Amino acid sequence: MSEKTNENRSLNFIHQIIEKDIEEGTYGGEVYTRFPPEPNGYLHIGHAKSICLNFTTAQKYGGRTNLRYDDTNPVKEDMEYVDSIEEDVKWLGFTWDKRLWASDYFDTMYEAAMELIRKGLAYVDDLSPDQIREYRGTLKEPGKESPCRSQSAEEAADLFERMRAGEFADGERVLRAKIDMASPNINMRDPVIYRIAHTSHHNTGDKWCIYPMYDFAHPIEDAIEGITHSICTLEFEDHRPLYDWVLKNVGFWPHPPKQIEFARLNLTNTVMSKRLLKALVDDGTVEGWDDPRMPTIAGLRRRGYTPQAIRTFCDEIGVAKSNSTIDIAMLEHFVRDDLKDKVENRNVVEDPIKVVITNYPEDRTEMVEVENNRNVPEMGNREIPFSREIYIDGADFMEVPVKKYFRLFPGNEVRVKGAYFIKCEDVIKNPDGTVKELHCTYDPQTRSGNGFEGRKVKGTIHFVDAATAVPVRVRNYNYLYIENEQGEQVLNPDSVEEKICYAEPSLAEAKPGERFQFFRHGYYIADEKLTNDREKVFNRIVDLKSSFKPKKNR
Ligand code: ATP
Ligand code: MG
Repeated sequence: MSEKTNENRSLNFIHQIIEKDIEEGTYGGEVYTRFPPEPNGYLHIGHAKSICLNFTTAQKYGGRTNLRYDDTNPVKEDMEYVDSIEEDVKWLGFTWDKRLWASDYFDTMYEAAMELIRKGLAYVDDLSPDQIREYRGTLKEPGKESPCRSQSAEEAADLFERMRAGEFADGERVLRAKIDMASPNINMRDPVIYRIAHTSHHNTGDKWCIYPMYDFAHPIEDAIEGITHSICTLEFEDHRPLYDWVLKNVGFWPHPPKQIEFARLNLTNTVMSKRLLKALVDDGTVEGWDDPRMPTIAGLRRRGYTPQAIRTFCDEIGVAKSNSTIDIAMLEHFVRDDLKDKVENRNVVEDPIKVVITNYPEDRTEMVEVENNRNVPEMGNREIPFSREIYIDGADFMEVPVKKYFRLFPGNEVRVKGAYFIKCEDVIKNPDGTVKELHCTYDPQTRSGNGFEGRKVKGTIHFVDAATAVPVRVRNYNYLYIENEQGEQVLNPDSVEEKICYAEPSLAEAKPGERFQFFRHGYYIADEKLTNDREKVFNRIVDLKSSFKPKKNR
């Protein structure tokens, strides 16, 4: 929301830590953060939260933020992912200080491991992965020391060099930190810090056949870059003692960074893990990573979300120290809020029904005025054609009206927005009993803008002129996941409904990426990929109604 609410809000706990460090001169007043994605998928809205937090925190204190690919795992990294990550960060409106690859630090990491070995703080273990797991103990029982733990530094250095030289097969040896097999924190029970993997790496090729583990690599990456505050999610809280242990014992860096954890973002009605999102892409459940139903940044962008809406959302949900799930309605609220004063209205009718105005001259077309945005009078009015034959929305007519239905039904009169009152006189049917068209009469006295005060009607509907209507393809999106009767999240079989609708003539000129409010329907964007000279495809960004009320005075 506004800058003012931001100022009034007390500092979040991360900013409190940083301000204390600034006051005490811990890092010479510097604030340096990083966003460290693993390039193994597209970024999602959870990553957006982390991006916003890292970049805006640094900005707030005149600091910098690096974009660092965490590519210490030699699995298939894909340049498609790298490109998408950069596009997404830029699209959100952030500029990184440096763009770096963790794999560029493999030499320093190797040196750091050797340093631990020299200090008697690491050893090469030949237990199998199963044995290592077994020896680790449980939350209730301490672990058991490996026979290799008593290795001399010389022996360990020799074995580690031979690991590097490729003398052993995958899984045959690992390098472990020598910490405490009885620690109540299982992460501290001699964690594995290097493993063997005879796999080429996208950056270092076949130079290495040993790769550092995340818990060893990450603090070193941060320290090499001079990061001051390493912000991550809560799962890493129990790993923080190891983060600190590595930096303290390697000892290369006099002012080691500080790891700070916050609660990851979870949202209702979607999934938030690259692995699960990739599965949806791979099995064809969605059209791709940028399918407008996906919670990926690419998906939200194609759906029509604005960077501003996402940033405001990330800012307003704040930073928490315990996990919770945010209602997706809150995200929707912020995109409505961002668009409501920015985009123009257009008339589009769904499930069109033809209306013939029998007492309107056959050869006449008049231009009627409608407002572009009711909230913003300065956005002015536009003229749209009106004639004897128009289309109205399927939902605006009921042959047998339900209670409190004020729109069109036989014998009822409604206002056609911008034009006249019309009254339904006759329902013409197809042979199969469906409605073919409605015959109505209009009252020339009731033209909008003429100040007619003769009588009032309860319903107002919108229209498009039949002769000039433009068919457009409209995709109305619903949630990707819904709750079933057992309260579990399951894939929504109806997550998209595609329709051909009729639009006022100007939409024939809609450009890819242009946004509109379809009057009475919702906010829409002309799909970037599918909109062209021949066809206009519109994605529903969000409908008009909101069940979410922002908290006041936060
Ligand atoms: P996923 O489980 O979706 O693959 P990840 O944590 O493995 O996510 P990374 O590429 O390793 O993905 O994450 C990059 C950064 O984004 C990390 O600092 C991570 O903590 C942060 N991040 C990932 N998911 C979320 C989330 N839901 N909320 C906040 N931050 C997140
Ligand atoms: Mg990961």
